[in-house]
Amino acid sequence: MNEFQLIDRFFAREDNPDSVKVGIGDDGAVLATNNGRDLVVVTDTMVEGVHFVCGQPASALGHKILSVNLSDVAAMGAEPDWVTLNLVLPEVNSNWLEEFAQGFFELADRYSVVLVGGDTTHGPLSVTATVGGWVPHGEALCRSKAKVGDHLYVSGALGHAALGLSLLSEKRISINDQHNCFLRRLLWPEPRISLGSLLRPLASAAIDISDGLIADLEHITLASGDLGALIHESMIPIEPGFEEFCSHSAILTMALTGGDDYELCFSVDSKQTGAVVRLSRHLNLPLTLIGHVDSRPGVRVIDAQGKYRQINSPGYLHHW
Ligand code: ADP
Ligand code: MG
Repeated sequence: MNEFQLIDRFFAREDNPDSVKVGIGDDGAVLATNNGRDLVVVTDTMVEGVHFVCGQPASALGHKILSVNLSDVAAMGAEPDWVTLNLVLPEVNSNWLEEFAQGFFELADRYSVVLVGGDTTHGPLSVTATVGGWVPHGEALCRSKAKVGDHLYVSGALGHAALGLSLLSEKRISINDQHNCFLRRLLWPEPRISLGSLLRPLASAAIDISDGLIADLEHITLASGDLGALIHESMIPIEPGFEEFCSHSAILTMALTGGDDYELCFSVDSKQTGAVVRLSRHLNLPLTLIGHVDSRPGVRVIDAQGKYRQINSPGYLHHW
């Protein structure tokens, strides 16, 4: 059984009260309030040996547990406000905790996110954060509103974090190799908060890429009514620098199916192309057209010769 089958079978329920605008199934829940804004709530857990390797710098872990949550907030088009932090710790190591807190608060302070609570227990190392943020009433970006013909974009460049992880697991770099840009992308992802909120009037749907572009894009197409998408391999944004470590074909596979990029993938009405170009310039962040939404279910990738690429595994999936 995989994570989504498990959630569907045991936890998804038929009806939500009216106050729940978006429940299970998006990057975050959207809850109505009476102050003119909707509250967006997201949560994510990281477990040692599953989401991060033993011996990872504590400051990077403190940064990343907040960053992956802020990435979900960004995908909802929200501005973050508060966070709770749950720690499961095998031991008390003051240096480790100081470094963890430093990484966490450096990012929290940058976005004025206030730590308002949490829980601390003894057990195998894992960390969970829950973040609350705000959007103007009715303006949250959801996965479910992409339309046939919409253009699909991604921010930044893809595949770097997956390459960092692969170099680490092949022992071609060490966890302390601070100058390796791929490892930095894996350990210190930057949430696209400004992009998310500026996409509110522009994008029809958005998601953050945590499990792999194809797997996450499939969440958009499915949630939008069993639609599909056609992606052009040659348009996938890949930055130079990988050549020292792997082939173009390998980095492309990582860009399409590797996790941990924390870029945003979003759909936009095709008439809005100019607005996306202006937004990209304004943020000084590449926003790359990669394909479009169509009515044939599934995400297909086409190469420069017009042939469909065989996708063996669209992304990361927890299963039991
Ligand atoms: P993301 O990758 O954006 O963090 P996930 O893939 O982890 O999202 O989760 C998919 C959806 O399922 C989200 O809406 C999440 O809130 C929900 N979800 C995950 N686990 C549970 C659970 N145990 N109970 C209820 N909802 C859950
Ligand atoms: Mg997400």
